[in-house]
Amino acid sequence: MDIYLYNTLTRKKELFNPIDKKEVKIYSCGPTVYKDATIGNMRTNIFQDVLRRMLIYNGYKLKHVMNITDVGHLVSDGDEGEDKMVKSAREENKTPLEIANHYTKLFFEDLKDLNIQTPEIICKATDYIQEMLKYVEELVKKGFAYETSTAIYFDVSKLDKYPVLSNLNVEEQKAGARVDIDPEKKNPYDFALWIKAPENHLMKWDSPWGPSYPGWHIECSAMSRKHLGEQFDIHTGGIDLIPTHHENEIAQSKGICGKIPARYWIHGEYLLINGGKMSKSLGNVYLLKDIKKRGYDPLVYKLLCYSCSYRNKLNFTWEAIEATSKSLERLRNGYQNHLNGNDKLSEEDREILNKIEEKFHTAINDDMNMPLAMSYVWEAVRYEKKNKEIANLLLKFDTVLGIKIDKKETNEGIEISEEVMELVKERKKARQEKNWTESDRLRDLIKEKGYEVKDTKNGMEIRRI
Ligand code: AMP
Ligand code: ZN
Repeated sequence: MDIYLYNTLTRKKELFNPIDKKEVKIYSCGPTVYKDATIGNMRTNIFQDVLRRMLIYNGYKLKHVMNITDVGHLVSDGDEGEDKMVKSAREENKTPLEIANHYTKLFFEDLKDLNIQTPEIICKATDYIQEMLKYVEELVKKGFAYETSTAIYFDVSKLDKYPVLSNLNVEEQKAGARVDIDPEKKNPYDFALWIKAPENHLMKWDSPWGPSYPGWHIECSAMSRKHLGEQFDIHTGGIDLIPTHHENEIAQSKGICGKIPARYWIHGEYLLINGGKMSKSLGNVYLLKDIKKRGYDPLVYKLLCYSCSYRNKLNFTWEAIEATSKSLERLRNGYQNHLNGNDKLSEEDREILNKIEEKFHTAINDDMNMPLAMSYVWEAVRYEKKNKEIANLLLKFDTVLGIKIDKKETNEGIEISEEVMELVKERKKARQEKNWTESDRLRDLIKEKGYEVKDTKNGMEIRRI
């Protein structure tokens, strides 16, 4: 079945036509590991996971590369300020390596909690310094880069066209709309490929230009070329990467080989919190662990992300999380009902179910239209007759959704506050002492706190209500 993807490069939905008909090559810009990843960052990872799973559903093999930025990402995208890693190391009184290891570990824990597949290749920027250096040297040799007293800059005026991906107004900037930090830059949009390190800078490497470190954009160009070649199929990232990071990756690549590195550029929109930006000053920077702390399965958040297209803004509220947690529970219970069902399916039923399957497939192939795809998942869940074949269909859908539809709704994996756990323990004790009045009183108290306890033959089960 045909796949259509919205390509930022052409601002159109296009038929997907990979270079190699069997294996799709993807590069995703990964995290800068200097602080906790937010649920906003995770929205980008979720859409990338759906893209992977959709391609696999269509029978493709994948070679997906994701980088870990552990050097060179400055506080401002305009080549200004400190390196984010160095700043964080100073503030937390650790080495940049300790900072990188710590936040990388947390990042992968979040991916695991969200049942996000790990890309085939994960590469850390600091492991590719020599490849980056070689890339910059080649650009200098080809006349696309020049040295100033502070850095090696890419000369955007040497390109036939800049920008190609975004709507930057280069002419306006040329007229002096912005005051530049480095007066030695030839053009306002020239960007740093390689930065000369001040004397006591923590992360620096020897280079023809003395002790220095890479700029942010060069790492993705060097690593994608190393693993995926000069041109590959898909490049992904959050929408904020379009005007600077991705524009400059394209510039670098055109300087090296005259080609735009990827054929399809796919960008995920932002997550809003209560209709606005996530910001420290508003105290609304949420992490996945905040969702877990309130007792929700992290996959509730993944399901919430399917309520609109990855290309639209999504609004996060706790009310939406609460409603989605009920939906996830209904989906999982619906799966169990089919699994345990013995209703006979007629030819007509099978035809309807095949149609549902086809419509689901068309929806995911249409630029990952998850709200529409979910409507067909619900049709299957709510199908009047209950039969194991429908449970199997739901499992097939779940290879794309990744919401563990076959997980039984128990206390497993749900974080419960200490207060509720204490009540649960007391109730257990009361039951052992056959004090049924006390046990019932505690059950009511637990219910008031939003949990239901059930006594089953496998012991006590707790779930959110
Ligand atoms: P940052 O750590 O802020 O550099 O973000 C890493 C990446 O996560 C960014 O490049 C964005 O693509 C993505 N991202 C950051 N904030 C959000 C958000 N609120 N919604 C969706 N994606 C985001
Ligand atoms: Zn990148």
